[in-house]
Amino acid sequence: MYNTKAYSAASATSPLSYSAIARRNPTEHDVQIEILFCGICHSDIHFVRNEWSSTMPTTYPIVPGHEIVGRVTQVGSAVTKYQPGDLAGVGCLVDSDGTCPNCQASLEQFCPNLTLTFNSPDKHLGGVTYGGYSDSIVVDERFVVRVPANLDLSGVAPLLCAGITTYSPLRHWGISQGKKVGIVGLGGLGHMGVKFARAFGAHVVVFTTSPNKKEDALRLGADEVVLSRNADEMQKHAGSFDFILDTVSATHDINAYLNLLTRDGNITLVGAPEKPFDISAFSLIMGRRSLSGSNIGGIAETQEMLDFCGQHNITADVEVIPIQKVNEAYERLLNSDVKYRFCIDMVSLKSE
Ligand code: NAP
Ligand code: ZN
Repeated sequence: MYNTKAYSAASATSPLSYSAIARRNPTEHDVQIEILFCGICHSDIHFVRNEWSSTMPTTYPIVPGHEIVGRVTQVGSAVTKYQPGDLAGVGCLVDSDGTCPNCQASLEQFCPNLTLTFNSPDKHLGGVTYGGYSDSIVVDERFVVRVPANLDLSGVAPLLCAGITTYSPLRHWGISQGKKVGIVGLGGLGHMGVKFARAFGAHVVVFTTSPNKKEDALRLGADEVVLSRNADEMQKHAGSFDFILDTVSATHDINAYLNLLTRDGNITLVGAPEKPFDISAFSLIMGRRSLSGSNIGGIAETQEMLDFCGQHNITADVEVIPIQKVNEAYERLLNSDVKYRFCIDMVSLKSE
């Protein structure tokens, strides 16, 4: 065991502040990574504030962060894929049972025994796992991904969650040229959804509640932008979408979007509001529409996504902050005031 620096929250109402945490020494299959950047996902806030208490209650203290990039500092004796000095990424998962049908299908994100990067039981040290708001982490090499060398690292970090969470459902639903795709909410996930849908050749429409994001949406790759609070603008698109990806973090009217789907169209939820939705049966019945969800992506697909980003020069648009600004960043994120992902430069942790 060794001590490393981190930012943690002591309760659902406490700010994040400096603390020292323990990490395991690398075992034979482990990779130790010096964390260089960690993105701030809205899920970090949901967890820190215990907003998902009914499905995934938070254990305190919590060290959030699952959009991690860094450099390998040490590897265990049986590690084959990495060596010290390599760039490496870690997303939302750090372990799974490896034997269930989901793991066998490379869909570790659905493993009933998965270990999340933070707030999961830590089978090595006891207590819970601690995430990426920290200067070092130790992870089994099976859950470490390679980072393309040509990309800006601060813009790569958010790919480990916002990137894969949008890439995976767009791939699953076969998004390609000729498809009309809606992206609801232009935040961290949404802006990556726009970039990927565009890269896959779709006609992309952004739905936003923020009029000041219109120009950016077009710059990021949208063909059209709809202000979702304007019923007339919404009505113009009735019955026309093949696929809509909903990334909104708060409760909103999902029926308004179901009615925009064409026959057999699908809405996939990746946003995870605290409260349940009201769904009208007719919004689904008329047109044989479907509503589904998607959870991040498996490790192999995360690597595929990173390689795709390397080939197509895709990164997140980030506002890089020192870790001392993390509480302020949370408040701004809750006000949809981010372009389009906060990313913590972990050098700032060294001065603590
Ligand atoms: P984010 O950056 O805060 O983006 C959410 C966007 O939703 C906002 O920018 C805003 O876009 C829109 N929005 C916020 N409040 C709204 C409201 N009351 N009504 C309508 N629109 C609203 O958050 P994120 O990091 O992208 O995460 C989004 C959600 O996905 C969170 O719930 C997060 O926990 C979840 N998530 C799920 C997975 C998964 O695997 N399924 C993975 C990561 C995150 P506009 O300003 O454009 O309206
Ligand atoms: Zn996330």
